[in-house]
Amino acid sequence: SAGAALREGLVVASHGRHCLVETPEGERLICHPRGKKSQALVGDRVQWQASEDEGTIERVLPRKNLFYRRDEIRTKSFAANLDQVLILIAAEPEFSETQLTRALIAAGAERITPVIALNKSDLAVPFERAWKRLAPYRRMGYRVLPMSLKADGGSGPAELTELLAGKVTLVLGPSGAGKSTLINLLVPGARALTGEISQALNSGKHTTTSTTWYWVDPARTTALIDSPGFQEFGLHHIEPMQLAHLMPDIAAQATDCKFYNCTHLHEPGCGVIAQVESPTHEGAISASRYRIYGELFAELSQSRY
Ligand code: GDP
Ligand code: ZN
Repeated sequence: SAGAALREGLVVASHGRHCLVETPEGERLICHPRGKKSQALVGDRVQWQASEDEGTIERVLPRKNLFYRRDEIRTKSFAANLDQVLILIAAEPEFSETQLTRALIAAGAERITPVIALNKSDLAVPFERAWKRLAPYRRMGYRVLPMSLKADGGSGPAELTELLAGKVTLVLGPSGAGKSTLINLLVPGARALTGEISQALNSGKHTTTSTTWYWVDPARTTALIDSPGFQEFGLHHIEPMQLAHLMPDIAAQATDCKFYNCTHLHEPGCGVIAQVESPTHEGAISASRYRIYGELFAELSQSRY
């Protein structure tokens, strides 16, 4: 409508087509998109205008990145404008290398540096085992942060606090790793806030919102985005031929391949296959990583047709 000035806002939660928008003053209101193009995600910066007690999103400002989740039928985006991804796994329950790899690839595809946090370091024996399973990931150059949310107490492990400061971090992890513990430790009142948000977005019905933004500090400089569903990471927007570039251990051996368009699955003169068949040095591609590569390649190829 003519005359009404557009206001700025940040999307802090979304449910279906509605979302909760926070104004620069810290007020929150429910907004609806004007149309398909103004459908916003958590982390989006939007322009909106008031209509009665709710708002209408007129425009989603350009995104610096976009994250996807897997649906039963297709890939859907769910968060935008992240600075980093924290993959929270634990000594117990045992983590899945496939899920970990999917999350690392998803972050890499958006050129975001992922950090792996290995929680429950207080459980000595399982921790030792998990730490060893992560050795190849450390060699590939991923940062792995050991911690104990239980033992370190207070406001959380110091290294983690430092890592998060001033950034927008998407927290991912399988259930049981300690994600709720982490969020409740860093965001006092998070549980109550989640309840309020889901109530507001579902007009009273108490269902959980899928993705939620939390401010860690009152000055609103540090944020966490909580999103359930680790295994559901959507990768269908990635080309199969791009996969090897997003797996550092595979990429390192792919430079020796005879064919420039080698898939590393069956070609003669393949540096990756040669290496998998005779693993001689530290830093070799593990059998499990090569198997995951093959499975993902097939999955991404199928989704093209
Ligand atoms: P979520 O499913 O990822 O949200 O996991 P929770 O935060 O609910 O944690 C799962 C369980 O692990 C709970 O019983 C927590 O108390 C426990 N837990 C969380 N952090 C630690 C830790 O550092 N050490 C140990 N031993 N247990 C932890
Ligand atoms: Zn090859």
